[in-house]
Amino acid sequence: MIVMKFGGSSVRNSQMIRRVIDIAVTRLENAPVLVSSAMGKTTDTLVLVASCAQGGDRDAAFALIEKLEATHYSAARELLADSAGLEHALNRHFEELRGLTQGIFLIRECSPRSSDALLSFGERLSTLIITAAAREQGIDAELIDARTLIRTDALFGSAGPEMDRTTRNVREQIRARRDHLYVTQGFIGSTEDGVTTTLGRGGSDYSATIIGAALEAEAVEIWTDVNGIMTSDPRIIPKARTIPTISYDEAAELAYFGARVVHPYTILPAIRRAIPVWVRNTAEPLARGTCIQARAEGSGVRAIASKSGVTLITIQSSRMLNAYGFLRALFAVFDTHRVSVDLVATSEVSVSMTVDRDVDLSPVVRDLSPLGEVSVEREKSIICMVGRNVFRRADLLARIFAAVDPSPVRMISLGSSDINLTLLVAESDTVRVLRSLHDLLFDS
Ligand code: ADP
Ligand code: ASP
Ligand code: MG
Repeated sequence: MIVMKFGGSSVRNSQMIRRVIDIAVTRLENAPVLVSSAMGKTTDTLVLVASCAQGGDRDAAFALIEKLEATHYSAARELLADSAGLEHALNRHFEELRGLTQGIFLIRECSPRSSDALLSFGERLSTLIITAAAREQGIDAELIDARTLIRTDALFGSAGPEMDRTTRNVREQIRARRDHLYVTQGFIGSTEDGVTTTLGRGGSDYSATIIGAALEAEAVEIWTDVNGIMTSDPRIIPKARTIPTISYDEAAELAYFGARVVHPYTILPAIRRAIPVWVRNTAEPLARGTCIQARAEGSGVRAIASKSGVTLITIQSSRMLNAYGFLRALFAVFDTHRVSVDLVATSEVSVSMTVDRDVDLSPVVRDLSPLGEVSVEREKSIICMVGRNVFRRADLLARIFAAVDPSPVRMISLGSSDINLTLLVAESDTVRVLRSLHDLLFDS
């Protein structure tokens, strides 16, 4: 079996949905499961709907929903000769979405649980259209609600899958059938009590490998808007090149440190069963793309990722001198507030850590204060170079730092696994540093 995931830009309008179905047709003999994101920027719009409703601006929220209706109905009409049945189904969903939005407006509150219910509409709407459009092309397509497949914990907003139960669900409902197309939603799942959850933004990639692992699929394909994983984000570095093969751990590092092309957790389910994960371009289906697999060919630096909007927290304390238990107390604070730390550097009298910008730091800073003097520096960027066994070479390190100059480097981390070299720079230096590192590492 094969799992094919299509991202938002791959299903953004009727023409793209036609392409997606053409690609799915070429895989029918592999018993495909098609996992889809919401159309285009639907999820972003739904986030706005929630914040308008919560903020008391009912009209703005409903105007946004009308815009969504227009895109979905026009895709339905363009794809189906007779779209009455599909429009009826879409309409039922939009009524429910309006009801939920009205509820959020009335109580002026959008809990993570309500937010997940609201965001789930994007994928639920897109898959209705895709399934109907595939049937229109004579394909034996069947829509399965991902909430009956992916069982998660109740951490709304970034729920984690419960793999045993999910595997059972998937195997009960999805059987290898040639010439049959299963369609399901990425991004969403449900708790034991059937409450809708989401896996976090960009989580449809993760859905695809969760389902792929449950089915022990021969491959998972992530279809997106670029020719695979590239040496850097092509939006920032237009001359970035496709990497033909990359290992699971290299891809995971890149994803974690900002290469949005795959969600950071995507690789985990695939590793366990050694399933190859392909990243391919919906607009150029003949291009080979990238294969993420256990072992990759080639060596040297693979790629450079960047992640802006990073905040640096430093704690200075003489209590660290010759003491144990200090780091445990410090990380317990992050644990309590469920704040995840990316980079860490320590000296005998200070510890520096990075976290994402959107984290509410005030409770963290409050609880850290008894441990030492806390300072917070915002607007930093992580620049992460990934490659195997290369960063111990002094000549390369010297050239890397020469290329970064004159941008000051605020923090450095060279992983013990020697797979990445990570620098923290000012956010305003991101593009300059990326360009000169890309020139150095891939053009010379
Ligand atoms: P989708 O909607 O298909 O999930 P995303 O927007 O989430 O697509 O991811 C694709 C985008 O990831 C690309 O358009 C590109 O700008 C960005 N990207 C960041 N880093 C990389 C990289 N190293 N290689 C390829 N794309 C990258
Ligand atoms: N639609 C969701 C998002 O935009 C999930 C995804 O596309 O992967 O975050
Ligand atoms: Mg994505």
